Amino acid sequence: MTMSRPGQPVGAPADRLRAVVVEDEAPLARVIADYFVKDGFDVDIAGDGETAVELVSRSRPDVVVLDLMLPGIDGIETCRRIRTFSDAYVVMLTARADEVDKLVGLSVGADDYLTKPFSPRELLARVRAMLRRPRAGLGEAKPPRRFGDLTIDPDAREVRVAARVVELTPTEFDLLDALSARPRMAFSRGQLLEHVSRGQSSGDDHVVDVHIANLRRKIGDDPKASRYVLTVRGVGYRMGEAG
Ligand code: CA
Repeated sequence: MTMSRPGQPVGAPADRLRAVVVEDEAPLARVIADYFVKDGFDVDIAGDGETAVELVSRSRPDVVVLDLMLPGIDGIETCRRIRTFSDAYVVMLTARADEVDKLVGLSVGADDYLTKPFSPRELLARVRAMLRRPRAGLGEAKPPRRFGDLTIDPDAREVRVAARVVELTPTEFDLLDALSARPRMAFSRGQLLEHVSRGQSSGDDHVVDVHIANLRRKIGDDPKASRYVLTVRGVGYRMGEAG
């Protein structure tokens, strides 16, 4: 089912923002889609994960709103499959706040999480904030930063551990970029959240912990003996020397 403007082919104009809404509750999917359409997006709806993966590969959206509970493959598996070929921003919808905890233990690859019921207005605000993040550095060239085996190249938006390129979500990269740009500075969760959401977030600091947990796993940083991303008790996080 498509909610694009009539007659508009899937995957067409490059200057319009595209969203894919993946939700099997049709009325909710439509409410979300309506908000995005009113905000100028072209929107496609998928009612299950397999259709969503197919749709995302064809329509190359900027944003995917992805419900966790879906018939067939669930939101986690759907997100993983999408991540193999797309760097779209992914907002995952969950039914309970504690489901976000479960997602900590999994390399899901979502950029943000929203617990139902939520206001579509807030969803849209978060998406808009994500889209405002620069995806490539303009202005002065930024040299790669090295922390032991870890190399962060801000201009290429590339992270390596030794010679291995690490695949990070845009949010994970932005967190590591912020931390490594000012090593030794202890960032509060609120500061990091503000950095990755450009001040638009409703302030669920816990989301930062989810992303940091995933980031640490991907760069091989043991949370109990971290070398790269250190926990600053009672504050948040800072970059480790890792030399
Ligand atoms: Ca659902």
